[in-house]
Amino acid sequence: MSKILIVEDEVAIADLEKDYLELSDFQVDISNTGDEGLQAALSGDYDLVILDLMLPGIDGFEVCKRIREEKNIPILMVSAKKDDIDKIRGLGLGADDYMTKPFSPSELVARVKAHLARYERLVGTGKPQNDIVEIRGIRIDKTARRVYVDGVEKTFTTKEFDLLTFLAENPNHVYTKEELFREIWDMDSIGDIATVTVHIKKIREKIEQDTAKPQYIETIWGVGYRFKV
Ligand code: CA
Repeated sequence: MSKILIVEDEVAIADLEKDYLELSDFQVDISNTGDEGLQAALSGDYDLVILDLMLPGIDGFEVCKRIREEKNIPILMVSAKKDDIDKIRGLGLGADDYMTKPFSPSELVARVKAHLARYERLVGTGKPQNDIVEIRGIRIDKTARRVYVDGVEKTFTTKEFDLLTFLAENPNHVYTKEELFREIWDMDSIGDIATVTVHIKKIREKIEQDTAKPQYIETIWGVGYRFKV
């Protein structure tokens, strides 16, 4: 749920904005002075600020400037005077949008949603998604280099992990031991294609229910291995 801060000294307007935003499932706090609003904006984890220009104490110009110095969140400025809006634009304070009072609350909500969506696209959600390969009961988190079999984490060595991931990312394709050795081990590696066999055996012990009847990595006799989809 996105959190919105309204900095507005006219209580009736602030309450109206809050009501409409809450109807759209936003969590809303109100500050009635510039000082209070600035403090709240800087210390709270708000996703967007609706900032009135004419405020007791420090005004909206200053509040906007100070928030912008520290936070990368959308700031929507509102003012009763059209002239002020032109002034805000001219000052380049870093506000994202401007609205002249009176405005319809639904217009405000629409703009709030648009700005939140735009910021989310720009900065992401803050939590980058891990790169996951998932086939039936096996889940390989490539980012964290962790493997889960039916939800249980199994420990893999670097080469076992690389080999399993390579096969799982290229399912239904038969690879010879030579191809797999070239793919996973670099040229200078000590070892030979027998290393591949040993690693496949170890991987199977970790992922297969019954290593005699492998459900994931199949042996194609005389050719090599294939990850079954
Ligand atoms: Ca005001």
